[in-house]
Amino acid sequence: PPGNSIASRDIATYLHSYTNLKKHETDGPLVVNGGRGIYIQDEAGKEYIEGMAGLWCASLGFSEERLVEAAIAALRRLPYYHTFGGKTTEIGVDLAEKLLSTAPVPMSKVFFANSGSEANDSVVKLVWYYNNALERPAKKKILARTKGYHGVTVASASLTGLPNNHRDFDLPIANIMHVDCPHHYRFGEPGESEEAFATRLADNLEKRILAEGPETVAAFIAEPIMGAGGVILPPAGYFEKVQAILKKYDILMIADEVICGFGRTGNMWGCQTFGIKPDILVCAKALSSAYLPISAVMISEPIYQAMVRQSEKIGVFAHGFTYSGHPVSSAVALETLKIYEERDIVGHVQAIAPKMQKWIRSFADRPLVGECRGTGLIGAIELVADKATHAPFDAKLGVGAYLAQRAQEGGLILRAMGDSIGFCPPLIITGDELDEMFRRFDKALGETEKWLAG
Ligand code: PLP
Repeated sequence: PPGNSIASRDIATYLHSYTNLKKHETDGPLVVNGGRGIYIQDEAGKEYIEGMAGLWCASLGFSEERLVEAAIAALRRLPYYHTFGGKTTEIGVDLAEKLLSTAPVPMSKVFFANSGSEANDSVVKLVWYYNNALERPAKKKILARTKGYHGVTVASASLTGLPNNHRDFDLPIANIMHVDCPHHYRFGEPGESEEAFATRLADNLEKRILAEGPETVAAFIAEPIMGAGGVILPPAGYFEKVQAILKKYDILMIADEVICGFGRTGNMWGCQTFGIKPDILVCAKALSSAYLPISAVMISEPIYQAMVRQSEKIGVFAHGFTYSGHPVSSAVALETLKIYEERDIVGHVQAIAPKMQKWIRSFADRPLVGECRGTGLIGAIELVADKATHAPFDAKLGVGAYLAQRAQEGGLILRAMGDSIGFCPPLIITGDELDEMFRRFDKALGETEKWLAG
């Protein structure tokens, strides 16, 4: 790229997240300069449908003026304050009340952070603090799942169950371990029903807990639908069976609602869609429609009460961030929640989801398509080398990445997670926009079929 272009300045200066660094030096960036509704614009003015709402987060699209106004008003009133040593702000309290009022089960208190990773890191510490408070210091192990995604800071990357997040980072840390990924299409045995698969996974979970020693297992963390692992839905009956086992051994259930929260699955919470009763709930992303960084952890009353006793003993709950409960982020989040309510965003998702899910399944007969899955306004199409055996493509071929690249050229941003192509558009998407999104996907899939046919 020319020496003074944004692309060349980017290459000269930027260390990119989740990017093949070598390849980036030649390919350069996509420079995104603007947004309108579900569309983003590059520096040449070309528009793309953002089929992933950015990183599963910009639920209200890219030009919601009310959020801009909320941020400006909050900046004028009080651009910053913190929550250490018992300080607070009205807007932070308003947001905490509003969040608690939406919780899928009664929750007692909210802790604010700035990202999903920070929230999940905080959860690990909360769980340890809680068990220290109960004077059972051995109960420290946290079970997460293979292919789960919980972030990239040291503890949350440890919870994440994807090899790239562990290899070369010396993770996971002690006391964090992984159990089965609940993907029936990939890991179900031939002829095994979803229900039987769920039973087998729950049995494995119980065996693992017994092998570790139930007195050492503190918590189980799960996304209602696994996102970055490839949009993996739980098999029928899975959470019911898992939760029965957690209850039996006094193990906390942590719901990572960072993607599923705020309407994505057709209910306010993924917990409601899948019958999850969490002791701790984590949310971020759509909490502010991604306009400013903010995340939240809701905890149950028994956890809070134990923490109070512990802080009484040692003097202080020694955790929190400079920007916990940031007033400007809080104002934007509160306005976002008001908009969800006023525009009945959950109702809109319920109304439009059948169209998206029908579109996704309409590709089932295409030669490269293995599984079509999803619910609400989230889904994926998994590409496979062999439809009969579900055999994947050689990862080196980069079939998913090829398709995503063709889609981008055709004006559609999608995410390839290996060879699973994710769909997670802004929740404000209309029926006509959905049709256009899948017409663009269809074209990219056709180009990928041609490329592979050679
Ligand atoms: N949890 C889930 C389910 C996520 O999808 C993500 C991010 O994609 C995170 C946690 C981490 O959030 P962040 O990237 O804000 O740290």
